[in-house]
Amino acid sequence: MLYFIMFVILFFVVIGIASSSRKQTSFLENQQTVMNEQKRQAALTAASRRECPRCSESISRKAIVCHYCKSDVEPKYVDDPTANKQIVEIITLHKTGMEKSEISQKLNEKGDKFLADGSDWCEEKVGNILNTFNT
Ligand SMILES: [Zn+2]
Repeated sequence: MLYFIMFVILFFVVIGIASSSRKQTSFLENQQTVMNEQKRQAALTAASRRECPRCSESISRKAIVCHYCKSDVEPKYVDDPTANKQIVEIITLHKTGMEKSEISQKLNEKGDKFLADGSDWCEEKVGNILNTFNT
C-alpha cells in the first residue's frame, strides 16, 4: 500500500515537472515572437514617426496637427532643419497646384540652393523630393 501511494505521488511529480518544462518552452518561444514583432514594428515606425515637440507622443512625420495634444506642428521629413523647411515648402507649393518647373523657378528666384550639392533647383530635383517625401 505504501509503495502504491509513493508510486502515485512520484507519478504526479513527474507529470508536473514535464508539463511545467513544456510551458516554460512555449512561454520563451512566445516571448521571442513578441520581441521580434516589437523590433520589426520599431524599425517600421522609426522612419515614419517622430516625437511631438509639445507632448512627446509619437506622431506621423507628415503631421501638421498633433493627434494627441492637437497643437499645430511643423512636418518633419528630415532632421536637418534647413532641408526640412525646403521639403515642406516644395510639398506645400505642389499641393496648391504648382508644377515642378514653377516650383524650381520660384526656389531659384529666392536664391535657395539644392542643399545636397549647393546647385540650382530644377524640375527633376523637385520631382525627386516629391517622389521621396510626398507619399
Ligand atoms: Zn502633441
